[in-house]
This record gives sequence, structure tokens and C-alpha cells, in this order.
Amino acid sequence: MRRETIAIHGGYDGDPATKSVAVPIYQTVAYEFDSADHGAALFNLEVEGFRYTRINNPTIAILERRVAALEGGREALCVSSGQSATYYAVLNVTQMGGNLVSAPQLYGTTHTLFAHILPKQGVNVRFAESDRPQDVERLIDGETCAVFSETVGNPAGNVCDVQGLAEVAHAHGIPLIVDNTVATPILLRPIEHGADIVVHSLTKFMGGHGTTLGGAIVDSGNFSWKTHAQRFPMFSQPDESYHGMVYTDRFGDGAYLARLRSVYQRTTGAVLSPLSAFLLLQGIETVALRVERHVENGRGVAEFLRKDRRVEWVNYAGFPDSPHYPLAKRYLCGRACSLMTFGVKGGFESAKKFYDALKLVKRLVNLGDAKSLACHPASTTHRQMSPEEQRKAGVTPETIRLSIGIEHIDDIVADLDQALDQANAVT
Ligand SMILES: *Cc1c(COP(=O)(O)O)cnc(C)c1O
Repeated sequence: MRRETIAIHGGYDGDPATKSVAVPIYQTVAYEFDSADHGAALFNLEVEGFRYTRINNPTIAILERRVAALEGGREALCVSSGQSATYYAVLNVTQMGGNLVSAPQLYGTTHTLFAHILPKQGVNVRFAESDRPQDVERLIDGETCAVFSETVGNPAGNVCDVQGLAEVAHAHGIPLIVDNTVATPILLRPIEHGADIVVHSLTKFMGGHGTTLGGAIVDSGNFSWKTHAQRFPMFSQPDESYHGMVYTDRFGDGAYLARLRSVYQRTTGAVLSPLSAFLLLQGIETVALRVERHVENGRGVAEFLRKDRRVEWVNYAGFPDSPHYPLAKRYLCGRACSLMTFGVKGGFESAKKFYDALKLVKRLVNLGDAKSLACHPASTTHRQMSPEEQRKAGVTPETIRLSIGIEHIDDIVADLDQALDQANAVT
């Protein structure tokens, strides 16, 4: 099936109990065993079925199959937020003393996780000078467990060279983990370009309506944990926390996901609620249509801003003179995301005035909503970074980030226009 069809039907063949056409919400914590032996077989992962919603749930399972199919992956685990997805994805491949090599352009909270939380847990994160494969490769050593990058950086708008990063990672026997939140599988399927693990904040374009937090980790099933058993002993040695299970023996290509679920999801429990899974599935049904309009409106806004004398600069990957254009052409078929940044002429004060004057466009830190949104990264999402870290992440004090929604383009432009007038009055 094509992505438009998967978004609507993927992972759901109808409910065997009721033949409900809409996905049923299984709002239950536990599931009854037929017998002690049946319970034992479920606990030993010998038969398929459900035990407890912290581990799996029929409604969430449908979302997992749908997201995996959209990404062209083998399997997915859905969790309570994009942050828990990223955290679990990297925890699953690292141990004390290991390190990650990351591109520097990251979502602010992911940067905080990498720069401040993981190191205290014994996993150092090395930030490359840029997202270029050669800059990333320079930092990889014998203790590196994965390369991490956002396919389209938030808020820098850089499009990463997924294939180049995958080649570098694989040459060193490690997986490439990417965050595909901003691009969505409608614009880019990283697994087709060599990425091994894809993480998502389903909160954004996938859910699409700013109502529901959720995250996903998709495994391609392509990385051979067995071949690289020395670097990744957690998959090929008996796991004492799960009665001596050897994940690569029992699950083969599914080892990564099985361990993610039976170790991290089971013991630390960042569980998505069944109702949230339902709401996210509802959103995903229209993701292909919405992304089309997001892309079209994004272009309209970028073109408006670019020819406006009240605007200092526009960072939009869809312009041929953008440094991100060649990779946007290669990986996004030229369809630049509706996320862009720009600078209001007049510096910090004018930018602030512009921000305060917005009426239709919402002032907040979210993105990927049907509504148009604006953010001032330096005062919000990226405020915990040093100025140098901000610069590397593509943020300056006057930067405004826009996530263009699916309203009528004329109404969006009219609001930006009147806010630019207010800003212009300052200068
Ligand atoms: C929002 C976001 C996250 C975090 O997702 P939550 O669902 O808010 O936890 C991670 N990565 C990117 C690129 C994001 O935009």
C-alpha cells in the first residue's frame, strides 16, 4: 500500500470481537489468562497476546503497526512522548562508558537530554561541528554506540544527509538513529536511505492537531546486533532481568524492539494511554493530506517573507540559494517542510514586537499543528543553551520560528503582514 492508504488502513484488519470499523479503544489495564499455563506462556513470550497495558495493548498495537508501516520499518514501540522515544531508543544501545555522536542541530529538550542527563548516567554525547558525515565520523571511536541526527533539524531547518550518515555509522559497525518528527514519513522515509532506527514525536505533524502527546520508536530490523555482538552485548548475552533471555536468539531481527519493550517499557513505563493512541490514529488518517497543505502554505509564507523589506533574512530549504536546498531536493523531493525561521529587521526589539503583535498565529513552543504557530527559540526552547550552543543549533536572538498550518494562506499572510507593520513601527 502507498503511504496515503497506510495512514488510513495500516495495522488494522477489523476488530475480531465486534467488527468495529473505527479502531476500538481498549481502555483496560490487564487481560485475563485462560489458565496458569497460558499465563506462563505469555510471560515467557512464547505465545502472542496481552498481559498488562504497560507492556502492550490492542489499541496501541494498531498504532505501532501503522507507524511502522508508514516508515517502512519492521516493528514499532509507541510510548508516552517523543522525549521518552528518544531516551529509550538510545538507552537500548548504550551502557556505562559508551558514547553517542550527535549532529548539533537538535530539538532543545533532546539537546538537554544529551548534554546534561545522559552524561550523568555514564553515557557521553559528542556533538559534531555540523551534521556533515565527515564531521560526525571524526568523533566516532571504539566506544561509540550510535550516530544520532534529526532528519530535518528543529529549528535550524537543515536537511541531514541520511545516506551519508548511515554509511559512516555502518563503516564503524554502529546504527544510525534519526528523529523524523519534522519531515514525517510522508516527506521522507529514512529507512530507505539506510537509517536503522527512527524515532518520532507523534505529538506534532503525525497526530497533527495539538491535542495529544505520544512517541514512537521504529526498528528497520536491518542492523545486525549479532554481527556486532562485542559492541552490543545486551542483545546477544543472557539478560538477567528477563530470566536469561538472549534477544538475538529468540527474536532474530526483532531483537532491538523486543528488548526495548521487555526491558525499558516494562521497567520504567513511559506508557501511552489507549485513548491517546486512538486520537493519534485519528490524526494520522489525514497526515498525507495535511502535509501537502502544510508544504504548500509554507512555500507561500516563505515567498511572502523573502520579498518583504521588513524582513532581514529567511531560512527556508525550498529556496534554490538555501544551503539546505540540494539535500531537500534529494531527500524531500524539493518539498521543504512548513517549519522555517526568519529574522525581523530591527533586531531583538523588533522581533519581540512582531511576536507580541501576532493575532491568528499562536505564540507557543509547539509545531506541526493544523494551526499556524510561532516560537521565539532563544527565550523558550533553546534558552538553556549557551550562546555558542545556540549558534551551533541554528538559533540567534532575533530568530522567529514558524510552523505554518493549514488555514487559508491569505489569512496567515495577512496576520504576518500586520505584525510586521507593528515591528516596523518600532524602527
Ligand atoms: C517536539 C519534538 C520532540 C519531543 O516530543 P514530545 O512529544 O514533545 O516529547 C522531539 N523531537 C522533535 C524534533 C520535536 O519537534
